[in-house]
Amino acid sequence: MLSDRALAAFRSALGADRVFDDDATRTLYACDETPRRVQPDAVLFPVSHDEVAALMRIASEHRIALTPRGAGSGNVGGALPAPGSVVVSFECMRRVLEFDPANRLVVVEPGVVTEEIDRLARSAGLFYPPDPGSNAYCRIGGNLAMNAAGPRAVKYGVTRDFVLGLRAVTGDGREIRTGCRTTKGVTGYDLTRLLVGSEGTLALITEATLKLLPAPEAVATLRLCFADNRSALDAVSRVMHQSVMPCALEFMDHRAIDAIRPTGAADDLAPGTRALLMVEADGAVADLPRQIAALEAALAGGGLLEMKSGFTREAIAQLWTARKSLSHAVKQIAPLKINEDVVVPVSQLAGFVDFIDHTANAHRLAVVSFGHAGNGNLHVNLMVHPDDADEMERAHLALDAIMLRVLALGGTLSGEHGIGTEKRRFVPQEIDSATLELMRAIKRQFDPHGLLNPGKLFPD
Ligand SMILES: Cc1cc2nc3c(=O)[nH]c(=O)nc-3n(C[C@H](O)[C@H](O)[C@H](O)COP(=O)(O)OP(=O)(O)OC[C@H]3O[C@@H](n4cnc5c(N)ncnc54)[C@H](O)[C@@H]3O)c2cc1C
Repeated sequence: MLSDRALAAFRSALGADRVFDDDATRTLYACDETPRRVQPDAVLFPVSHDEVAALMRIASEHRIALTPRGAGSGNVGGALPAPGSVVVSFECMRRVLEFDPANRLVVVEPGVVTEEIDRLARSAGLFYPPDPGSNAYCRIGGNLAMNAAGPRAVKYGVTRDFVLGLRAVTGDGREIRTGCRTTKGVTGYDLTRLLVGSEGTLALITEATLKLLPAPEAVATLRLCFADNRSALDAVSRVMHQSVMPCALEFMDHRAIDAIRPTGAADDLAPGTRALLMVEADGAVADLPRQIAALEAALAGGGLLEMKSGFTREAIAQLWTARKSLSHAVKQIAPLKINEDVVVPVSQLAGFVDFIDHTANAHRLAVVSFGHAGNGNLHVNLMVHPDDADEMERAHLALDAIMLRVLALGGTLSGEHGIGTEKRRFVPQEIDSATLELMRAIKRQFDPHGLLNPGKLFPD
């Protein structure tokens, strides 16, 4: 339990009204999107870089573990408090410190909601491409720590590709700045790219300088219904093997389509649809017809039942209905979603989805797969009942088999959700012991007392 002396030190650094150790607040901050709950000893709400530096120094002096937290929307237990830790919530650090359209950059605090950055950029004809599905409420600090991404990653890249520089506080209270404000810069080691995706284990990020791009003039959407998964995923391979890069290339398997049928969202799909692709192009208005024609040509092939296009906001929204209804519909299958976001090379996707199908049948499990097919990033959702021990055992066996297959195909454990607490046991299968030891040594340099987000990312 937190000592009175440490509590008093936090209160004097932040003010008593931003240090909470009451039961209600600790309960509220005991979770993220995973079903587990661990109450922190206290919750702190800093409002500035200086306060973060001060609280880190107190934590270092008293050897108190800290769990950084954005919106708590992560689904791998990254923001789940370590037992006996104190949560540092960045919700109150939500200032835009600088918006510089001429240099296409924005400087933000970590608590800014991701969508707000894009909205601000668009007010000046620019945009911020990373678009995680949670961007209406997740915070940029969480995105940076997890290297989040969304559908647009296939064309534009992930959060890491849009970070020019960071300000942060290390685990022993050192205040550091990484990177620069320009789109070129090679001075020193690239600590910016190291901190992005470090899951709060190396430093508390207090400021980010983000790169913006000119906003595309328009977007056009294709929705394709296929008779089977393999035909859809073969079409994905063809798209990735031609010159027009879509800005979204999303896939839903037959179980995902079955899941949305009760909601009515599949009513306007072609009869016999067993797989769906959503394909989007963006750019200059005059160029969109050329792009769409090229994509249509690449997508056409065996198993295609129907291809519809949308060029207006309303038509596009209508085409996305099936995909957008999925998250809610999946929750009706079973109370617990074991949500993996593995990645395999795009050319291996069709065989991998066959393997998942086979594994689901062999273990008698409901497994719904969908995802960012253009990146080979598949969300494999095992829908289970946590109080059914036999089903949970089968789910874990299936999971082991799926992870092994991912790695055998040259893939990776996580495309965007990260490792957190949930995938730690698989890490040694992907990262060899020498490399892991180097990572631990880097962690010790940043966080000598092991206070930042313990129990995350590294295997036991
Ligand atoms: C419906 C839904 C859809 C989603 N869709 C996507 C998606 O499309 N793509 C995707 O990538 N993810 C997605 N996610 C997962 C999640 O939203 C992302 O991982 C997001 O980046 C987490 O942001 P957050 O603010 O909620 O961070 P949290 O969950 O609070 O924290 C995430 C991690 O960041 C660390 N952290 C937070 N702030 C800081 C900081 N300032 N300094 C250091 N470490 C920090 C935490 O310790 C934790 O390890 C989705 C989640 C949901 C619920």
